[in-house]
Amino acid sequence: MGLQPMSHRQDADATNDDQSMHPSRDQLNSGVLSPSEPRFVRVVIDRAIHRELDYAVPETLAERVSVGSRLRVPFRDKSALATVLAVLDQSDAKGIRPIEAIVGEAPVLSEQLLELAKWMSAYYCCSIETVIRSLLPQVVRRAEMGWKKQLFVQPTGKIESEEIEKLRRRAPRQAELLQAIAQLEKPVRAAELLRQTSLDNQTLRALVKRGLAELREEAVARDPHGDEQFLATTSLAVNPEQEFALQEIMSALGAPDNARPILLHGVTGSGKTEIYLQAIRSALELGRNAIVLVPEISLTPQTVERFKGRFSETPDGVAVLHSHLSEGERHDEWHKIQSGRARIVIGARSAVFAPLKNLGLIVVDEEHETTYKQEEAPRYHARDVAVMRAKIEKCVIVLGSATPSLESYHNAKRGKYGLVTLTQRVDQCQMPLMRIVDLRQERRKQKAAAILSEKLRSAIADRLEKREQTILFLNRRGFSTSLLCSNCGEARDCPNCSVALTFHRHVARLNCHLCGHTAAVPKKCPACGQDALIYSGFGTEKVELTVAHLFPTAVVRRMDADSMTRKEAYRETLRSFRGGKIDILVGTQMIAKGLHFPNVTLVGIINADLSLHLPDFRAGERTFQLLTQVAGRAGRGDTPGEVFVQTYTPFSPSIQFARHHDFAGYFEQELEFRERCDFPPFKHAILITVRSPHETRAKFSAETLTRRLKETLGSEFILGDATPAPLEKLQGQFRFHILMRGQAIMRLSRLVRETLDKLPFPEDVTVAIDVDPYQLL
Ligand SMILES: [Zn+2]
Ligand SMILES: [Zn+2]
Repeated sequence: MGLQPMSHRQDADATNDDQSMHPSRDQLNSGVLSPSEPRFVRVVIDRAIHRELDYAVPETLAERVSVGSRLRVPFRDKSALATVLAVLDQSDAKGIRPIEAIVGEAPVLSEQLLELAKWMSAYYCCSIETVIRSLLPQVVRRAEMGWKKQLFVQPTGKIESEEIEKLRRRAPRQAELLQAIAQLEKPVRAAELLRQTSLDNQTLRALVKRGLAELREEAVARDPHGDEQFLATTSLAVNPEQEFALQEIMSALGAPDNARPILLHGVTGSGKTEIYLQAIRSALELGRNAIVLVPEISLTPQTVERFKGRFSETPDGVAVLHSHLSEGERHDEWHKIQSGRARIVIGARSAVFAPLKNLGLIVVDEEHETTYKQEEAPRYHARDVAVMRAKIEKCVIVLGSATPSLESYHNAKRGKYGLVTLTQRVDQCQMPLMRIVDLRQERRKQKAAAILSEKLRSAIADRLEKREQTILFLNRRGFSTSLLCSNCGEARDCPNCSVALTFHRHVARLNCHLCGHTAAVPKKCPACGQDALIYSGFGTEKVELTVAHLFPTAVVRRMDADSMTRKEAYRETLRSFRGGKIDILVGTQMIAKGLHFPNVTLVGIINADLSLHLPDFRAGERTFQLLTQVAGRAGRGDTPGEVFVQTYTPFSPSIQFARHHDFAGYFEQELEFRERCDFPPFKHAILITVRSPHETRAKFSAETLTRRLKETLGSEFILGDATPAPLEKLQGQFRFHILMRGQAIMRLSRLVRETLDKLPFPEDVTVAIDVDPYQLL
């Protein structure tokens, strides 16, 4: 990501700084259609030149051009693809040239989505071109791909049986095919008919030539779930808490103009999805459409099935958007939504931009999930963008979670969001019993860093006896996490990044988890030549091996990014685990989210401290969320669950509050800490990362930028010094951080951008701006 000077952009109104994300008047105006046919258009081209350009519209094209249209325009001595931001009666730009062509059939961006794009550009401090690239899938922007066409066959007119008999003498095969065609009630795919009759294309062509049959090309959708069967389901009975939540959503649907976002805080297993499904049904009945965002990792076949099954009366009506679609599938799903055939969209982060019209409801499930934040420009947070979209489209938004983010919970507490709480699990199951295991004591007992404490070990043995299942969770892959020479102290670090290489036993290599660098495992220390290498630290691979060694009769499987390189492997492992064919499942966060296994009665968290000691103000919050989510995997059937949390810091608040399932208590003390330290949600933050392959240049640029920012930003903003990032070196680049905090985020964004615009940087220095950052390493 390079610098993004945007000198010609219209900025957000400076007086309109606030946290409630109102668009400014300026942003609203350009969305208004001119009453007469457009004579000029203002566009941004797809290439980031950070300028809006005016073009003339030839009279012959005027009728088909509107805000959101895609165009081909001349740019310098080439042509470029562009998006219409506004239509104008006049333009005072000099040397105006006419547009070349209209790309695609209809405008691809609604006025509301354009308005959202402009807000994102101002809020996230990035160019509108960059935002539009995120808003429109490439296959839509380029408009080079069309629908998949297939040939359908039908009879030309009524076919008399004498005709078939007459043909039978001269051409028996044609007669046979004609007979099949005569019986068709509607056109069928030619290939399908030929397959059924075991006849060939030549025979069909002959009939067409005789004028007895007709071939027609029709578009068919490449449906990513087209070959799956969905069992129709109906609404489940709801408990009083769910009923109350539904009432709240329903009354918001009745008066969406001034409805607040609703935070649905429900413990794991409290039936939030059923609420979503019934709320969507109500929205549809009111003639409005719905988007459901789920974290990519939760977008499993089961999730899709639940939605497709519930709305099975229109199998086409549910579109699915995620990153694993082929370009063809993405094209078809997108246009299915755009044309109004799909009325429900379920998808990961970018589905927040789904081109649904007449939006009535947006659901953001697991709203606390950090994967909603995009880590490349535009660095947007899909939940926050969804809240803004709901405001623009005047629709209802529901944010659901068992462990709401501090930001959303804070908004609910101060009345900006409505709060609905679900305290009961639908199956009347009890919350699992959380047991804390002090690894310091364990270390003294076992005289070494333990992977499994004695208590956890005997709990596993007990489950194996009862034929119940166990999940062991560790958020670190690989076998050994560091390799050190005991003679000279030399550590094997990645040459490109400031982290240790991880030893992967299965492939017998050292890997860097950040840049993918891989190296052979040295027999002797490369520095001093001594045979004194020590492996230490452990990851999931070692846990799997240890467990398999301790319980030789148990079936142990591992689920992490290393063992699940094929998509099928993931499904297969889940299927056999659900089917009871696996006793112990070891895994990373891949197994922490939203999976439902009734026979799991034990969850072991191997090391709860891993996320707790990161240099990140959200470390405690993430640990609390993770413990609660992982624990939610236990005891969802008839047997109550038990969770063992192994830790070296048993008294840290996130562990203690999670242990007692005390959300309110945790949030209270964490909010107090954040307020005292001026961290979100009390202040917004902007993190600038300056990086370069040359350490001195990165450092000098970061320091110069900090000086300029100090001159520009008023005392209402907190600005730290430029410091080496916690991850000093990444992929061969040296990295420096500048962190700013303040309340008026729109103003801060604008000042940062203006400062950057005026500052020339050396060519090999890259500056990235992250508004509301989630990644502080
Ligand atoms: Zn050595
Ligand atoms: Zn690396």
